[in-house]
Amino acid sequence: MKARPSKKRTSFAKASSLVRAKRSATSRKGGPKNGKYPDIRRDLERQREAILNEAGEVLTHRGDIEAFPDVSDQASAEVDQNFSMRIRDRERKLLKKIDEALERMDAATYGTCEHCGGDIPYKRLKARPVTTLCINCKTLQEQEEQARG
Ligand SMILES: [Zn+2]
Repeated sequence: MKARPSKKRTSFAKASSLVRAKRSATSRKGGPKNGKYPDIRRDLERQREAILNEAGEVLTHRGDIEAFPDVSDQASAEVDQNFSMRIRDRERKLLKKIDEALERMDAATYGTCEHCGGDIPYKRLKARPVTTLCINCKTLQEQEEQARG
């Protein structure tokens, strides 16, 4: 009869699984879905949070304006509102791109050029985490856009 795995081995496996559990608990936010690009995911999530915080501040700010309807402040309040609306439009687009990038990470298609299917180098992803094109395809696209007009 063959001996069962020694007690030592079992307890070692238990210990290492404990270590693993502990580690994933401390980085719960990223979780096991971190995949190939954990730090880029962190960048994206941080950027996303920053945009949402800023949007929250804009809303709070607008609340202040409505709470103190001073005639002399009306004009500057409107300028302010237009400005924040423009920012919000840009941020909304960026937010969408960030969400799409995170979705691609979940689907494990992140880092693949959607035009040629090649790998986008890590360096490019780190510099521009929401990109969907490799540098060659991006350059081609820009050249085409320039040629068009
Ligand atoms: Zn490409």
